[in-house]
Amino acid sequence: MKQQVDIEVAEAVDEIREVVGSWKKQGKAVGLVPTMGALHSGHLSLIRRAVENADEVVVSIYVNPTQFGPDEDYEEYPRQLEDDIKKCREEGVGAVFCPSDEIMYEDREYLSIQIDQLNETMCGASREGHFEGVLQIVNKLFNVVKPDLAVFGQKDIQQYILIEQMVREFKHDIRLIQGDIVRANDGLAVSSRNRYLSDEQRTIAPGLYRSLRYLKQQLGPDVDNVSLMIRHQQDELEAKGFEIDYLNIFDYKTLEPIEQMESDHTYILAGAVYLGETRLIDNMLLRI
Ligand code: AMP
Repeated sequence: MKQQVDIEVAEAVDEIREVVGSWKKQGKAVGLVPTMGALHSGHLSLIRRAVENADEVVVSIYVNPTQFGPDEDYEEYPRQLEDDIKKCREEGVGAVFCPSDEIMYEDREYLSIQIDQLNETMCGASREGHFEGVLQIVNKLFNVVKPDLAVFGQKDIQQYILIEQMVREFKHDIRLIQGDIVRANDGLAVSSRNRYLSDEQRTIAPGLYRSLRYLKQQLGPDVDNVSLMIRHQQDELEAKGFEIDYLNIFDYKTLEPIEQMESDHTYILAGAVYLGETRLIDNMLLRI
């Protein structure tokens, strides 16, 4: 149920620490939902998961420059803080943390997080430095907010798996919750970038979801022409006007593309495509 409550809006590290500190003193469990703002129904579903699972929720809103490549849409990325704060208030969020670049980064940073193997496929293969930037900022957010739990979406499945790995390796005492992908009625995964699509591109866009759904129905351990089936869907998408970055099936643990599925495994069917300049990603999990 929606509730109108007071919401703290903190820009400084000390401010948000004070807010969270006072909640913790009262024995409250704190949930964090990191976002880049321009909140849509996908973000709101994550916020609801956090509200259900924690006593107080912090939503961070920060467009992180280090996760954008030089040719990506950092400058154009939508920014609508007032509207976002209003949505957070309606969902019962206790605090919004919206720091500036100066607060999140030192003038000169000497340290960074390196990733081995898990960024060599999927989005990591074509977005150089993206996931290092994501981990750098999420690590900072975890240290600033010190939440008991954090919610991230399955929509960015490679990001989720890398954050899970970071929590494990860096011993963050944080429970991760994976939020389901929220879709429009025609199946298109909701995204801040969908607003860049023209009307014509918007009608084509659910094709990615349909290809993934088709493959999910068809693929299984007894199928031995996995790559042929995927190639066929790639051709179909190209014929519809998509430019394909990747469309493939990956092992959930190693993120390597696979040729043959085995029982008792989890796989990720995932795609990244362009419609004009706009990059769309989507995925489905296959537990066999
Ligand atoms: P972003 O603001 O794009 O960095 O996304 C913030 C969080 O929202 C990430 O954990 C995303 O995986 C999640 N998210 C983005 N789109 C969706 C969606 N359609 N459904 C559910 N979660 C989403």
